[in-house]
Amino acid sequence: MTAGDGGGSEAASFLARLRVFEGLPAVTGGRGKDPVNAAMIRHWCEAMGDTNPAYTGPDAVAPPTMLQAWTMGGLSGHGGRSDAYDELLALLDAAGCTSVVATDCEQEYLRPLRPGDTVTFDAVIESVSPRKTTRLGTGHFVTTRMDVLADGEPAGTHRFRILKYAPAAAPAPTAPARAPARPRRPRPVVNRDNQGFWDGVREHRLLIQRCTSCTALRFPWLPGCNACASLEWDTVQACGEATVFSYVVMHHPPFPAFDPPYAVALVELAEGVRMTTNITGVPHDRVRIGMPVRLEFLRVDEDLELPVFRGGSEA
Ligand SMILES: [Zn+2]
Repeated sequence: MTAGDGGGSEAASFLARLRVFEGLPAVTGGRGKDPVNAAMIRHWCEAMGDTNPAYTGPDAVAPPTMLQAWTMGGLSGHGGRSDAYDELLALLDAAGCTSVVATDCEQEYLRPLRPGDTVTFDAVIESVSPRKTTRLGTGHFVTTRMDVLADGEPAGTHRFRILKYAPAAAPAPTAPARAPARPRRPRPVVNRDNQGFWDGVREHRLLIQRCTSCTALRFPWLPGCNACASLEWDTVQACGEATVFSYVVMHHPPFPAFDPPYAVALVELAEGVRMTTNITGVPHDRVRIGMPVRLEFLRVDEDLELPVFRGGSEA
């Protein structure tokens, strides 16, 4: 358990009031508006550009990642949302946590969904975190877990996490355009699928995933192999040599932590995979396709280092 950063008995008693909601239903007796059907599967696959043959034909299954789509209420919503969930959000609103942002979701698949399956679901408020301070502000993470059934059989779970927070105070309007307290670069989203990559970065190693079934390399990190679908993998360490495969120079829109114009490059590593990165050591207007570059680690601030690529002297 991580300690809240607020401390004090007031925060502790508020957290205790929030935690009363853990385990209470968020949705009961939910029912998908349509059974699993070929038309929605086709639209999804067209939108995603997914041509996997498993999703067409007489024995088609639905793409597993459609799990949540079958439960969505559309514009008219659907019944079943519990009073408990609304009460929890109201309690957070009353404490000043009036803003909300969806932070992540996780899905687990237990059985394929097929056209004709009837979808039902229940959701519970799984956890409410201690008070946390993020770049957006201070608040609480609320995680709900939806259990999805197909014709009454467990088909999967969908965990959904939001941050209900009090927005950080906006800078005073009279602040100079380049205030000394410059916004920090966005943090990478580290999850269980890419944790190993960021562990490697911390040790100044750029790690590429390698499928242990077919030896295909893949980057960025993914749970499974695109070539053979195996979930087994290990890693190889990039030697650090690369060339610029493509690049853009960013002028607009401005992001607070960056100084445009700057080059964002897609580099091809000597191992053959490509990654998006920054080019250092070369002015943005001297970056060229085919330019040799070499891995280095850029210390961005006290808790963020990033792998970037430095242009050589022949640039
Ligand atoms: Zn493979």
